[in-house]
Amino acid sequence: MTQISNSPKSIFMSFERIQEKLKILADAAKYDVSCASSGSKRSNINKGLGDATGMGICHSYTEDGRCVSLLKILLTNYCIFDCAYCVTRKSNDIKRAAFQVQEVVDLTINFYRRNYIEGLFLSSGIFKSADYTMERLVAVAKKLRLEENFNGYIHLKSIPGASDELMKEAGLYADRLSVNIEIPTKEGLKLLAPEKNREDFIKPMLKVKNEIIQYQSEKKIIKSTPTFAPAGQSTQMIIGASGESDQQIMWTSNYFYKKFNLKRVYYSGYIPISHDPRLPQIGTDVPMLRENRLYQTDWLMRFYGFEVHEILNNEHQNLDLDVDPKLGWALRNMAHFPVDVNKADKFMLARIPGLGMKSVHKILQARQFRNLNWDHLKLMGVALNRAKYFLVCDSRDFERRDLTGPQLKSIILQNTTSKYQNILSPQLNLFG
Ligand code: SF4
Repeated sequence: MTQISNSPKSIFMSFERIQEKLKILADAAKYDVSCASSGSKRSNINKGLGDATGMGICHSYTEDGRCVSLLKILLTNYCIFDCAYCVTRKSNDIKRAAFQVQEVVDLTINFYRRNYIEGLFLSSGIFKSADYTMERLVAVAKKLRLEENFNGYIHLKSIPGASDELMKEAGLYADRLSVNIEIPTKEGLKLLAPEKNREDFIKPMLKVKNEIIQYQSEKKIIKSTPTFAPAGQSTQMIIGASGESDQQIMWTSNYFYKKFNLKRVYYSGYIPISHDPRLPQIGTDVPMLRENRLYQTDWLMRFYGFEVHEILNNEHQNLDLDVDPKLGWALRNMAHFPVDVNKADKFMLARIPGLGMKSVHKILQARQFRNLNWDHLKLMGVALNRAKYFLVCDSRDFERRDLTGPQLKSIILQNTTSKYQNILSPQLNLFG
């Protein structure tokens, strides 16, 4: 029988081994943006286990909108698949590691007790099979909840192809579940990950959606019904790996939001990682600005009442890089403007470039008592630098009804400083 040694040397070696695994598996997890990541500044104190600096701490939002820091790691970066866009693909010559279930539990509890984290984001490469991997992810969450009485936030990755039973168990212990569809179109998936099948992504998503609905309705009748994935489910798409248009991407998002009640779709600009001829070559810029425009479009669809076809259609298949999608839409639809802020409904107010929903609500409130003019709008904190070209109120200055969309665009761009200016200038110069 093997003796477990507790000598200082063996403890030091196991500490080193966990550190090494953590380094590899936190680094591999950084490509998954389905919990928005940012580095923690907390460093190792008192020579304890773990150093949060660069060790896979990210931030995410809970069901009630709180921002929480999470330990973001893979269970393993071994994988039986060979998806061309993925750094973990089996043909990639990289250092591999795998945590045992108990190691992830111990790490989470250790980091939690030190106040480094408030929860865990756990994903994984697929080793042996979808169910074999999913079983281990579920085992981590189950141990944390039942054995460690852990009440922190848990985000688990659903492994494509995992069985309904495992998905059901996962939802009982995790706050959020997500399965990454990765490539926005079936054709792109076939090209870059021919072993994968879109149905394998859809099946667990559908199961989770149905369980959430069922548990929610049972809870209305029986208060003691446990919660099921209370923070819902999300997915991620890689942008710019397989040549799809923004129109295709946003239709895919729209489909997943509507069909599976997703809480979020995340867009991740492809980071070139291989010399595969099917992919953008190493050295190609990561499409950061495009990623940002897609997030803005997603926001307009979810909170501003825009439909995909209004922003992206056959005449306009890709988002403008030089202006945000709401301004782009307004410049192509000048016939809808100017909007009268004293009369327009919420839907049209929300379409005025530069006006956020907070300003829309303030306007709707304030105009119950008086007709609004520029001074009122300024006092309310409405940002008028763009909005002034698209609205009328109880004053007459600033109005420029005579300008065409292109003329207005050039005036606005002259007065704009974008944080993406450095990216934008060379990209636009290509078309100059
Ligand atoms: S199955 Fe997932 S982890 Fe494995 S290669 Fe494909 S994308 Fe990467």
